[in-house]
Amino acid sequence: MKKVEIIKDSCISCGLCIQMNNEVFNYDDNGKSDVVKQIVNDDVINIANMCPTGAIIITE
Ligand code: SF4
Repeated sequence: MKKVEIIKDSCISCGLCIQMNNEVFNYDDNGKSDVVKQIVNDDVINIANMCPTGAIIITE
């Protein structure tokens, strides 16, 4: 099953993923993005591709 994960060291807290989908992404206590609901669909894959640092990864 596909999973979406954040590479915390790569996240620059730009907020893009959270602005685009706050059902799946939200800020953690350090101001980095966190996956709050596991959903991998076209929207989430598109957001992963838009992350400026490639911090959002989709795993099998
Ligand atoms: S788009 Fe990427 S860098 Fe920006 S908050 Fe989300 S995971 Fe972090």
